[in-house]
Amino acid sequence: MENRIPAMDAMVDNATCVVSASDGSILEIVAKAVQSGVSATFYVSRSQAKAINAWYWTPQRRKQFGVEDVSPEEQHKIEEELGLKDAIAFSNRIPCENCGHVYGAFEFLQQGIREHGRAGVEAVLGMENTSLIRVNPSEVPVCPNCGENITDGDSSSKERIIGGTPVRRPHYYGGTEAYAGCCRLD
Ligand SMILES: [Zn+2]
Repeated sequence: MENRIPAMDAMVDNATCVVSASDGSILEIVAKAVQSGVSATFYVSRSQAKAINAWYWTPQRRKQFGVEDVSPEEQHKIEEELGLKDAIAFSNRIPCENCGHVYGAFEFLQQGIREHGRAGVEAVLGMENTSLIRVNPSEVPVCPNCGENITDGDSSSKERIIGGTPVRRPHYYGGTEAYAGCCRLD
């Protein structure tokens, strides 16, 4: 532990802390964050990410949120057009209320590059020991076709409040090892 303290000292600032706890306690902390609705990003070990995803992504949740494995065709398009490999494993697809364009894994990664830069996305995907988990992410999907925020729900999807902001029809995704995906309050 002592030899990690300088690294932690360099990392901790106003928006970041380092938590040291058993894997079980870390799962509990992430689960509580998901259920409380707060937005946070967790950088966890690969085994912790597996435990979190196993807890969160039950077959019922996958079905409820309509997430599907990203097809080989879409993976190919992501690789060809965005230059990203193994970035996303599953995702739901939500139609833009304004123009009908469907927002899925490709559009999500495209928006990620636009908002965080290619270097930022590649840095995350290049992590070798760490998995990134987004809890209740506050970003709104933006339609690449018409530029509108995809926040309007149809009558079948109820509005949800996350961190004080009404969010409808969230985009759900699960990543691969480095980018493990998102967990949201049900
Ligand atoms: Zn649109």
